[in-house]
Amino acid sequence: MATPSRAGQARVGRDPELPAAGTPGVTQEETRRRNLGAVLRHVHVHGPTSRAELTGRLGLNRSTIGALAADLAAAGLVTEEAPTAAHRAGRPSLVVHPRSTQVYVFALSVEADRLRAARVGLGGRILDLREAERPGGMPAFDAVGPLAGLVRDMGRAVTGDALLVGGAVAVTDTTRDPDGRIRIGGPDEALRAAFEAELAAGPGLVAGDLADIAAVAEHVRGVAVGVNDLVYLHGDLGVSAGIIVGGRLVVGHRGHGGKVGHMVVNPYGLPCGCGSRGCWETEVGGAALLRHAGREPGGLPAVVEALRAAAGGDRAAQVAVRQVADWLGFGVANLVNVANPDMVVFGGSLRDLYAAGADTVRRRLDTMALPAFREHVRLRVAALGRDAALIGAAELAFARLLADPLNVGATGRSGTGPAPA
Ligand SMILES: [Zn+2]
Repeated sequence: MATPSRAGQARVGRDPELPAAGTPGVTQEETRRRNLGAVLRHVHVHGPTSRAELTGRLGLNRSTIGALAADLAAAGLVTEEAPTAAHRAGRPSLVVHPRSTQVYVFALSVEADRLRAARVGLGGRILDLREAERPGGMPAFDAVGPLAGLVRDMGRAVTGDALLVGGAVAVTDTTRDPDGRIRIGGPDEALRAAFEAELAAGPGLVAGDLADIAAVAEHVRGVAVGVNDLVYLHGDLGVSAGIIVGGRLVVGHRGHGGKVGHMVVNPYGLPCGCGSRGCWETEVGGAALLRHAGREPGGLPAVVEALRAAAGGDRAAQVAVRQVADWLGFGVANLVNVANPDMVVFGGSLRDLYAAGADTVRRRLDTMALPAFREHVRLRVAALGRDAALIGAAELAFARLLADPLNVGATGRSGTGPAPA
């Protein structure tokens, strides 16, 4: 079994550049395996595709595509079907379908307030989804047992010749202690190993920070498809970023980076859970909105209520939205000046905050970001909503299969899913 990778080392879902036939140092077998991966990745990301379209899009000849599709079908990863009316343009050509209900991964998320587990089929389809509450203060380690229980429940519902090919878990980097203190710490190797031991989720389990993984999801299947320079901002208890540069996820030492919520924006501001003062996340996010609006501290429902009040004309709530949006724009302008992205995406609790104060954010950006940078950057809300972490985790879990389909297809465990307790 290969060493399971961290999120930062995984591919981010682009179609790979294929080596030309006869490239020095690349054997025929290596070329064939890469081409198998390219065909499978294409139907995984883009859905059922005819052999003729694959020929055009991957730049391989017709007989090569036919042989590759037949090999993938023999491995149980795709089926080939006669074209329906939608695919019948030009010469009839068999359509390659991912076997979405048979080939699957487990995708898990340890979120600020809940634990979620999904069985996701090849092609990115959520086949089954379970969730449980995460009580305040529950360390990520204590989530391993309950999540394994959800996975076992889903595994028992799997029938037929299903093939489990991997698993991944997205872990938010902040937890709130019972005394209200915010603790910071994303997934580490010990946590990943604990998940792997408990779940036995096929060949290797990947762990990563939730913001990184949600960024991958938006890049592959959400609002940022085709955008290779991207800053995804995720709000829950704090604010983290998933940063994609040149189509690759960028993470720091041991996979921990993107803690943009701890950029100091106000040295005279409030103490932060990290031990510093005036961090960005003390000025943006739900807690700041409620504070500015003169409301009691509360979770997401309280934030939604404050935003609804602002939309309904409540003066105090409107002022609070403008204040938080101004701070949001302040930090975004700094990030734009550092990363020069083509898009900034607002996800998690920042999605609704941004939507309520978009004009204020843009105004701040237009006064603070470098003109050449702010002209092309697009600001967008996340498209995948609450499922982004699960969809992104599934992409990471599928990465090994897509890199070498026959290797993983042959060693994946069929049927029952994770090992019994
Ligand atoms: Zn901080």
